[in-house]
Amino acid sequence: MTDTIDAPASGAAAPVFTIPQERRIVTAIPGPRSQELHARRLEVVSAGVSSVLPVYIARANGAVLEDVDGNRFLDFGAGIGVTTVGHTEASVVAAAAGQLQDVIHTLFTITPYEEYVRVAEWLAKLTPGDFAKRSVLVNSGAEAVENGVKIARRFTRRRAVAVLDHAYHGRTNLTMAMNYKAHPYATGYGPLAGDVYHAPGSYPYRDGLSGADAAKRTISYLEKAVGATDLACLVVEPIQGEGGFMVPADGYLPALQEWCTANDVVMIADEIQSGMARTGRVFASEHFDWVPDLVLSAKGIAGGLPLAAVTGRAEIMDASQPGGLGGTFGGNPVACAAAIAVFEAIDRGELLAAGARIEAALTAGLEGLRERYDIIGDVRGRGAMQAIELVQPGTAETTKEPNPEAVQELIAFAAERGVLFLSAGTFGNVLRFLPSLAVTDELVADALSVLDDAFAALG
Ligand SMILES: *Cc1c(COP(=O)(O)O)cnc(C)c1O
Repeated sequence: MTDTIDAPASGAAAPVFTIPQERRIVTAIPGPRSQELHARRLEVVSAGVSSVLPVYIARANGAVLEDVDGNRFLDFGAGIGVTTVGHTEASVVAAAAGQLQDVIHTLFTITPYEEYVRVAEWLAKLTPGDFAKRSVLVNSGAEAVENGVKIARRFTRRRAVAVLDHAYHGRTNLTMAMNYKAHPYATGYGPLAGDVYHAPGSYPYRDGLSGADAAKRTISYLEKAVGATDLACLVVEPIQGEGGFMVPADGYLPALQEWCTANDVVMIADEIQSGMARTGRVFASEHFDWVPDLVLSAKGIAGGLPLAAVTGRAEIMDASQPGGLGGTFGGNPVACAAAIAVFEAIDRGELLAAGARIEAALTAGLEGLRERYDIIGDVRGRGAMQAIELVQPGTAETTKEPNPEAVQELIAFAAERGVLFLSAGTFGNVLRFLPSLAVTDELVADALSVLDDAFAALG
């Protein structure tokens, strides 16, 4: 048997994978070599850095991770939505490798290079809204959030920052204060940044509100707790990520944008998890007819290399003084070259089509499970960003009591059989599916059959 296999035909030219796209468990999980590495890690890596599944990965390709013991896992996390185009995707690898030969670093703010400009051109083209746009490139999602807030404050000359309940925006000082959950992200790390206000959002499964009513509630909070004239920006994930993949009610986001525009508040879409073709649209905002003032990108933007961006209205972005924005590694040429390969794949339509295909396969399977297991309270998401919310037995129609224990049991059961699922949710009771777009329908079906067995085995 050769180590290179063809993907099952599914429309477009089938990519060739360098690791067979199948799960294969050959040791206990974690295996002996992973356990050895884990012991070494505990001696030198901070205890503050945790790992969901301590199997150490040696190779990855497409939708499959291969660990140091030779076990293969179907990856339904994609590094939290980072390897959206697939692990070690061929065009990303080629672009990054070529760039490594040409120039690795100059610092754009000293001597610039074309790749940075090309990324900004693509972002201007792909982000929602038909108006002049500018971008700044940085290294991480949290850094994009920090810069989005800086830019909005500079433009509005106002101080306050608003976010929504259940939000997640990062682990830096400002973004810790913007998260809904203090634990584990902020516990003991204070004092936190001030002037951050947490408004109620839209969570149809639990609040039952229409988009208009949820927006009214958010706006009422902002007007009373902050006051529009002091508010620099409202930062919103169009589909909340860590909070549990909440899809807002129809009309919610455009109503907030309308209020922000009327009050000269900059409305910022944190598309760090939901963007880059993950949901079947280039940016999830498009599903909701939302045209944000600024869009934050990171995670899936460069096929796995670290890159992030703030993109938005030229007048807002250009309000910053020269030298006010930037950073040593921001817009690294190798990361930019990889991002351009991702943009070209988006432009060819492949990724958007894959998002729609995966949504169909995943939601059909998950709705089928919901009919059979009454602890599945909700199935929601868009494209390859789907989730189920689990509740205690018998409470799906009433109190919807969160069931985080079941989520942990399902994840452990699947991991031992070679499927990597991730949890999410303010209450830890959401199982999320964010595979790479290279995942085939056959792999989705296989993962769902493991999940079915996991539900059947629940205590
Ligand atoms: C991951 C994430 C961030 C933070 O990105 P980092 O690269 O981890 O700093 C911010 N916002 C959202 C919605 C995210 O999912």
